Amino acid sequence: MTKITNHLPTKELQRLDAAHHMHPFTEDAALAKKGARIITRGKGVWLTDSEGQEIIDGMAGLWCVNIGYGRKDLAEVAARQMEELCYYNTFFQTSHVPAIALAAKIAELAPDDLNHVFYAGSGSEANDTNIRLVRRYWEVKGQPEKNILIARKNGYHGSTMGGGSLGGMAGIWAQGGLPIPNITHIGEPNWWAQGGDMTPEEFGLLRARELEAKIEELGADRVAAFIGEPIQGAGGVIVPPATYWPEIQRICDKYGILLIADEVITGFGRTGNWFGSETFGIKPHIMTIAKGLSSGYAPIGGSIICDEVYETIAGSGEDFNHGYTYSGHPVAAAVALRNLELMQEEGIVEHVRDVAHPYLMERWQALADHPLVGEAKLVGLMGSIALTPNKDSRAPFASDAGTVGYRCRERCFANNLIMRHVGDRMIIAPPLVITPAEIDILIARATKSLDECYAGLKSDGLLKAA
Ligand SMILES: *Cc1c(COP(=O)(O)O)cnc(C)c1O
Repeated sequence: MTKITNHLPTKELQRLDAAHHMHPFTEDAALAKKGARIITRGKGVWLTDSEGQEIIDGMAGLWCVNIGYGRKDLAEVAARQMEELCYYNTFFQTSHVPAIALAAKIAELAPDDLNHVFYAGSGSEANDTNIRLVRRYWEVKGQPEKNILIARKNGYHGSTMGGGSLGGMAGIWAQGGLPIPNITHIGEPNWWAQGGDMTPEEFGLLRARELEAKIEELGADRVAAFIGEPIQGAGGVIVPPATYWPEIQRICDKYGILLIADEVITGFGRTGNWFGSETFGIKPHIMTIAKGLSSGYAPIGGSIICDEVYETIAGSGEDFNHGYTYSGHPVAAAVALRNLELMQEEGIVEHVRDVAHPYLMERWQALADHPLVGEAKLVGLMGSIALTPNKDSRAPFASDAGTVGYRCRERCFANNLIMRHVGDRMIIAPPLVITPAEIDILIARATKSLDECYAGLKSDGLLKAA
């Protein structure tokens, strides 16, 4: 294995990291004792760390490196754009070629009349924009009191004040006074954990109808929009029952509520179509995009807006008083555009649908035979397995939620596989370019990790149901 020598020794990097770098979503003092794993390069679905270990990345970074690591094309586009026009804004009646060309490309790929793009630097920022957009829409329509957004518990929409408020993560709300006013939440369509004796179909309807009850409770004249991820990602890759989205759509249509699909993970091929909304038959007014838009090569996000919402706000006779210095940043936009072109030229969405998904599906579902695994779910290249001490009752473990998942993730880490845990669910979302041979390696390492985790739980007496 090649030893990488163009950086400081691992111990020294870890010392400097601990001394000066505060990590997101991390207990920093605990990490400082242990030392972060330092990633030094990436190629395809593979990462290398500062010790020369070769790791298979089952999470595409944070669900974003869809086209795989190390694409020379994208590096060249970024370098060319920096020389030509490193930065210009799109505020004061100016525009530039990358922002224009990318917006046109996104409108071409997005379904129906989702024809207008408002740029942000990330998914969180884009969701903050969406709060402003839907409230502005109803203001212009003469209904300023129609300003409440309904979202879901255990949804994830980012970690800014707006994004964190739309999200339904208890851990985020516990710190810093979230959610902000006029955002409210209904239950999640998580049949495995919450469906009891119902069929998934019954439970999907039950959860969707919580939206109707909430609208009735608040009054439709108070509700601006509903937001949801087609598949909850950070919540644990929770695939909703087939009945769920059609019922949500029916309710939004019936009460005249705007529908926002947060496609930050599900957008750009992840589910085997360009957008998760196509996979689930959702017709949103607004989509949130980020992550796979640039395959993580540059920070960029945005909102794709339908004709009606766009025309209302654009024709209000006033400025829309909102924007970011880096809205449509030319380097990020040029990289994102080339990323989407490469996805088209190389047929990567078709690769997911026709090759990678069917192959992984067979192998992923076989994991459900493992003694530790209850259900195994996979849509496109977004999958999860539920760890359980009792497959029939779907019981959680007696230990604190997440204890077993954390132990399993530790085994994966040790076996050079990146697979995350959310509570006691293990999740994957590999780069979309993953090949069948690489899927074999991923599954072999996952199986080894599950075996080791199971043996450890057994010897520590932790295989008990709550
Ligand atoms: C990651 C994510 C976000 C937030 O995106 P950032 O770029 O991290 O701000 C929003 N929504 C969903 C569904 C996400 O997965």
